[in-house]
Amino acid sequence: MTDVMQAMESFPSSRQAALQRLEAFVQTGAADYGRTRNFVQAGHGNVSRLSAALRHRLVSEEEVLTAVLAGHRFPAVEKFVQEVVWRTYWKGWLEQRPGVWTDYVALAANPADEVPADAAMRVFTDELQSGGYLHNHARMWWAAWWCHQQGLPWATGARFFFDHLLDADAASNTLGWRWVAGLQTPGKAYLARRDNLAKYWPDHASLDAIDDSVRARIPVETADLSRGDIPEYAETPPALDRPVLLLGHADDLSIEKTPLGNLRPTAIALVAQPGETDGGAKRAWRSRAFDDAATRWLQHYGQTVERLPRWDGVEAWATQAGSGHVVMMAPFIGPDADAWRPVRQALREAGVEVTECRRAWDQRLFPAARAGFFPFWHKVRPLVSKRLPLAKAVD
Ligand SMILES: Cc1cc2nc3c(=O)[nH]c(=O)nc-3n(C[C@H](O)[C@H](O)[C@H](O)COP(=O)(O)OP(=O)(O)OC[C@H]3O[C@@H](n4cnc5c(N)ncnc54)[C@H](O)[C@@H]3O)c2cc1C
Repeated sequence: MTDVMQAMESFPSSRQAALQRLEAFVQTGAADYGRTRNFVQAGHGNVSRLSAALRHRLVSEEEVLTAVLAGHRFPAVEKFVQEVVWRTYWKGWLEQRPGVWTDYVALAANPADEVPADAAMRVFTDELQSGGYLHNHARMWWAAWWCHQQGLPWATGARFFFDHLLDADAASNTLGWRWVAGLQTPGKAYLARRDNLAKYWPDHASLDAIDDSVRARIPVETADLSRGDIPEYAETPPALDRPVLLLGHADDLSIEKTPLGNLRPTAIALVAQPGETDGGAKRAWRSRAFDDAATRWLQHYGQTVERLPRWDGVEAWATQAGSGHVVMMAPFIGPDADAWRPVRQALREAGVEVTECRRAWDQRLFPAARAGFFPFWHKVRPLVSKRLPLAKAVD
C-alpha cells in the first residue's frame, strides 16, 4: 500500500468512516486514552486519528463528545474531552484575534527552502511529507527542534506543517507553533529533551542529534494581539420558503446535519480551493472528503453539487444559478475566509444577499475563549461533564 493510500485508511476521509472510527474508539480506545495518549507509536493506535475529520467537520466536536460520553463516565474520559475542547478553544481564541492570523500569513509568505535532514527528526519529516500526519508529541518535538535547536523562523516551520498536514487548521497549527516558540504564553517556550523523547517514543533509533543544552530562542512578538468581538452570525438560516443557493466549503463538510439541512436550495456549490504548495497526501485526502460531501449532499438535497476549484468562481456560479440569496456556514479565520472575503463583497455589491451561519457549539463556546485555556475549561467543563445539551450557553 502506498503512503498516500495508507493515510486514507488511517485518517477517515468520509463521514461514514469517521463515525466508524469514533465507534471503535469509544469501544476500545477512549478508556485508556489518558494513560497512553502521549506515546508515539507506529500506526498511532493509541489516539483517535480523528483530527482531519474534525477539522473539516466530517464529524463535529459535539458528535464526538456525545458518543464518548454516552459510552463512558466523564471522569474516565476527561482527558480526551479536554483535548477535543482545546480545538474549540484555539478556534475561539483566534476568531477574537484575527491579527494573529494575518501576522502568520505575512511571516509565512514563502515556504521553507529546505528542511534540515537532521537525523533526530528525519523520521517525522518523512512521515509528515508522505502521510500527512504527526502525533501531537512529535509535532511538539519537531517544532521545538526547528525553532530552538535549528534557530529557524517559527512561521516557516508552521507553513511546512500547514502544507502537509491532513488536519491543517489555522487555529490549532498557528497557535500550537506560537506556543512552542514561546509567543503564546509569553516567555514560556517548549523544548525537546532527550529523556522525554526516550520515554514517549519507544521506537526511537538514536537521540544523539537532540541537543539538551539548547535554550529557548523566543522571537519578538509582531502580531496585533488586541481582542475584538466575533461578528454576528445566524444560527439558523432565514427564509426557508425562498429560493436560495447553498455554498459549501472545506470548513464544514456536514452541513446537512446543521440547520442548513432544512433548506431546499435551487443550486449547491462546493468550493475546494487547495493551498498552492499543499502536499500530495493532503490533496488526496481532501479530494476524497470533498467527493464524500458532494455525494451526501446530492442524496440529502436532491441536487447535483457543482465543484468550484477556487473561491473567485463563486460570483459567476451565483449569477448563473440565478437566485439573489446565498446561504452558507461562515468560514473560520484561515485561508478559506481570506479568499471568501472579497468575493462576499463583490456579491453584495452585485445585489446578492449573503447569509452566513455558525453552529450553536461555535456560537456559544467561541466567545468564552477570551484568555487562557483553563478559565475557558472551567466554564465548559460543567457543561460537558453533566451531559447537558452541549451547546447550551456559557457565560
Ligand atoms: C505545533 C503543533 C501544530 C499542530 N497543528 C495542528 C493542526 O494543524 N491541526 C490540528 O487539527 N491539530 C493540530 N495540532 C494539535 C494536535 O497535535 C492534533 O490535533 C492531534 O495530534 C491530532 O491527532 P488525533 O486526532 O489522533 O488526536 P487525539 O489525541 O485523539 O485527540 C482528539 C482530538 O482532540 C483535539 N486535540 C488533541 N490535541 C490537541 C491540541 N494539542 N490542540 C488542539 N486540539 C487538540 C483534536 O481535535 C483531536 O482530533 C498541533 C499541535 C502542535 C503542537
